Amino acid sequence: MSQPVEVDVVIIGGGLAGLSAARRLDRAGVEWLLVEGSDRIGGRVATDVIDGWRMDRGFQTLNTAYPRLPALVDIDALDLRYFTSGVLVRRCGELHRLENPVREPLMTPQTLISGIGTLTDRLKFAALATRCATLPVHRLLDMPETTTQEMLRAAGLSHRIIEEALRPFFSGVFADRTLDTSSHVAAMVLRSFARGRIGVPAAGMAALPAAIAGPLPFPQLLIGARALAVGPGMVVTEGGEVRCRAVIVATDPIGAATLLPDRLPRPDVHSLTTFYFGADRAPVDEPILLLDGDRREIIANTVVMSNAAPEYAPGGKSLIAATVVGISAPSGASETVIRVELARMYGVPTDDWELLGVVTVPQALPAARPPQTRLRKPVHLGDGLFVAGDHRDSPSIQGAMAGGWRTAGSVLASLGARVGV
Ligand SMILES: Cc1cc2nc3c(=O)[nH]c(=O)nc-3n(C[C@H](O)[C@H](O)[C@H](O)COP(=O)(O)OP(=O)(O)OC[C@H]3O[C@@H](n4cnc5c(N)ncnc54)[C@H](O)[C@@H]3O)c2cc1C
Repeated sequence: MSQPVEVDVVIIGGGLAGLSAARRLDRAGVEWLLVEGSDRIGGRVATDVIDGWRMDRGFQTLNTAYPRLPALVDIDALDLRYFTSGVLVRRCGELHRLENPVREPLMTPQTLISGIGTLTDRLKFAALATRCATLPVHRLLDMPETTTQEMLRAAGLSHRIIEEALRPFFSGVFADRTLDTSSHVAAMVLRSFARGRIGVPAAGMAALPAAIAGPLPFPQLLIGARALAVGPGMVVTEGGEVRCRAVIVATDPIGAATLLPDRLPRPDVHSLTTFYFGADRAPVDEPILLLDGDRREIIANTVVMSNAAPEYAPGGKSLIAATVVGISAPSGASETVIRVELARMYGVPTDDWELLGVVTVPQALPAARPPQTRLRKPVHLGDGLFVAGDHRDSPSIQGAMAGGWRTAGSVLASLGARVGV
């Protein structure tokens, strides 16, 4: 389909938020067009396949407890490969295990004797995670909003368990080492981790946006069509002007503030870098996240992807992902440091590992400091202009999907159309 001159709604951006919005508008029978500036859909969720290695554009996982997921995709069809629920922590030369306290309420002997924090710490953390997993969402959001750091301290957790396990864990999730992220966002993350399983599709994370887009009429997704300007009732791309009744700006947060400078502030964003290595042998047998409890603050987490998803590596080899918070420019020096750190964390030599790629995502996640307005920032900006994305809900796959869905509902209400569930 060539670019039409008039539709009901133009969606700008084909990431998870834009695609989720399209699904809701499509179901309501509204005429819509999605313009995506790059050469593919999926936005920040993408997979590169190189010589049989499957490398997501930055280590990320899907949580089966994300509430918006079942409405948008057939989870079984994603063919998920799962990671162990819980983490390993390398501290003072030893590996310690922390189970997911909700899935393993009685704690295994390994968690009971774990050297991470004290037993009281582990019981208090179990109580916090159980609260997040079991209280209704509105009760969690009624709690006073602070930072993640303050939430962990208020739960009575010691400085030691925060520094040795929880800071490395949350810093990888939020791309924020300061733990300034809103406690409401942290509570929702703990809720998802405690209730769900984390995994990756056998074909790579790009299978997720592909599955969301699957039922959409393909010609209405205009790929390679960058929006240059937006105004009430119109979007301009290189292909010309499209007139419309409503516009949904579902770009990344900086892109949204650039297109609508008078209506949206320019947000802070956090960066992530993932180093991918190939090895003949896996350094551990389990598909489990390994955290650095030695407070070196170089690698936030590392995981052997192919232990969960053998499809991520060719011919029985192993794919190892190591995530660094911030931008780590690929260089000989940074590679050497990462190899040394990985050797310490896994307790094996890494000299013969092949560096396959370094993925830097400067705008990986929007900063989500308090207040986050109950994870529902306004999406109707007036004059038929709407905004959607992880920066309006929560900085996650769930936030992007739920945000797109919510914004489409707001558009339908403003158009007087039937509002789907
Ligand atoms: C390395 C990394 C790890 C992550 N880990 C996790 C994780 O483990 N779990 C989790 O839940 N979340 C994770 N996330 C976050 C999650 O991927 C994002 O929150 C989510 O994908 C954001 O989707 P979005 O649709 O809001 O924005 P985006 O994915 O940024 O989509 C915006 C789209 O708009 C397009 N666009 C921009 N400007 C224009 C324009 N002018 N015209 C047309 N199109 C335009 C872009 O090309 C893009 O396709 C991670 C993110 C990264 C980068």
